[in-house]
Amino acid sequence: MRRYTGFNGVAAGPAPAMVRLTEYAEFLTGNGLWNNGIYGNRPMRGKKSTSVHATGRAADWSWRKMPESKTRPERGFGAYEPAKAFIDTLIHFQELFLLEAVLDYYGPPHGQGWRCDRDAWQQYDRKTIAGAPGGDWFHIEISPRRANDATYIDSAFQHIFSLLT
Ligand SMILES: [Zn+2]
Repeated sequence: MRRYTGFNGVAAGPAPAMVRLTEYAEFLTGNGLWNNGIYGNRPMRGKKSTSVHATGRAADWSWRKMPESKTRPERGFGAYEPAKAFIDTLIHFQELFLLEAVLDYYGPPHGQGWRCDRDAWQQYDRKTIAGAPGGDWFHIEISPRRANDATYIDSAFQHIFSLLT
């Protein structure tokens, strides 16, 4: 288990490693998961403390079904199960990805959260994350350790793909 970092200062923009991880998530799910925002210097929804999105190391990946637009094809699984399956695979390889947290806004009673410092999901039995239950996205955080280095994400996937032979 690894220490959880959380908010550790405002960055100038999105962390390259999180941008890369998000690109893989979109590609490998056929845009079933799509980037609903990485960097943002703002308080947490419904709270005063600053969101980890301000560090550039957090991303929201939505599985919401979105119709085709002028600039983008149709995207979003429109279903929880395939999105959660991809997230579970990421968590399986959490050490490779230096994953620190995942928030899942969907299930009752109030969603659930996975953290690297307990290596387990915790179901929230009272209101903890704004948007749960019923939220059709996941919030993902990675470690600051190699957040400025997108190539470790490439290496992580290369390793996983090498297991397929
Ligand atoms: Zn988020």
